[in-house]
Amino acid sequence: MKILVINCGSSSLKYQLFDMRDESVLAKGLVERIGLPGSVLVHRPGDQKVEINADIENHEKAIALVLEAVTSPKHGVLASLDELSATGHRVVHGGEDFSGSVRITPAVMEAIRKNSDLAPLHNPPNIMGIEACTNLMPKIAQIAVFDTAFHQSMPAEAYIYALPYEYYEKYKVRRYGFHGTSHLYVSQRAAALLGKPAQDVKVITCHLGNGASITAVKGGKSVDTSMGLTPLEGLVMGTRSGDIDPAILSFIMEKEQLNIAQATDVLNKKSGVLGLSGVSSDFRDIEEAAGKGNKRAQLALDRFAYVVRKYIGAYAAALDGADAIVFTAGLGENSSSMRAKICAGLGYLGVAIDEAKNKIRGQEVDISAAGAGLRVLVIPTNEELVIARDTLKIIEKA
Ligand code: AMP
Repeated sequence: MKILVINCGSSSLKYQLFDMRDESVLAKGLVERIGLPGSVLVHRPGDQKVEINADIENHEKAIALVLEAVTSPKHGVLASLDELSATGHRVVHGGEDFSGSVRITPAVMEAIRKNSDLAPLHNPPNIMGIEACTNLMPKIAQIAVFDTAFHQSMPAEAYIYALPYEYYEKYKVRRYGFHGTSHLYVSQRAAALLGKPAQDVKVITCHLGNGASITAVKGGKSVDTSMGLTPLEGLVMGTRSGDIDPAILSFIMEKEQLNIAQATDVLNKKSGVLGLSGVSSDFRDIEEAAGKGNKRAQLALDRFAYVVRKYIGAYAAALDGADAIVFTAGLGENSSSMRAKICAGLGYLGVAIDEAKNKIRGQEVDISAAGAGLRVLVIPTNEELVIARDTLKIIEKA
């Protein structure tokens, strides 16, 4: 059983090809600058790295090149596409239509298209990827795995905004949450590491990357999450503001003479730790600048950690106590100093970190000190594997 996982962005495409007998990755890669000058495919079969420069004018061309690469006699890993059992696609927004992964049919495509309204930057490229695979591999089953699906279990009190109720009825304005495959994966791994069935575990999962979100998971289900209608709500992020007073929008629009599109762009692309520090959206650069005495960089780190800590406290309340906190994604997995900073104020929950364990990198590790009342785990996320597993489950059911 070989499964291709595809994650299409507006000008990029990531892929991984799994052999599901042992869940090994046969090849993976990245197409960048789709539709732009200088487009390139970087294909990695095993430890090799092959760079293919070509004019990649659209997503169909990108996927055609990927399929060529994985079946190439020189650097391919499949004898032919007949070896492929299915393709799993990451789809960002499933709205209220999908609480799990599904086989793609014309009706599913229509629902994904309808939900583009809620994710205008994300769903259209996801759709392009699916359409390209349909054209290029009409006989191969395609499965959609949604970022929002895991959070569909949130109760109404967690997902509803206190706005006129008709906005929810007419436009489905509510909280959806994102990074669902990551929160699902690390919460399941956390239960395994704690040696308990997922139904008996309460965890707070912190996905801290360029985009960042926190989820409260009870009995294997998401009961609250920090992102909302869009991925702008919640934590401070690389370039996104996270929670702010909504009145700031009209205030700044008036002061800076910005239209709606410009103001939204500020909140999504010019805010977060980039906006605060003025240095970068990359935490490595900010940590370096702060280390050299840059006060705004330090403020960005302090604000980031403070907001994460507040959310952890809020979700401990939402869960009525938790068994573990999980750190994952680029920053959560790699920055021992940020983990220590976040945990520093959480002693009242029973959090205590073992400094030596907190330095271990690149593997699943329990970084709590002996006798700590609440476990703190670092778990590298694996969204592609969740997509491959769901894809396999669905084709095996058929
Ligand atoms: P992701 O979106 O999960 O790929 O995470 C990207 C973020 O993780 C970027 O802001 C990186 O700066 C951050 N990151 C990755 N490695 C490290 C590291 N060693 N120390 C601090 N931040 C890191």
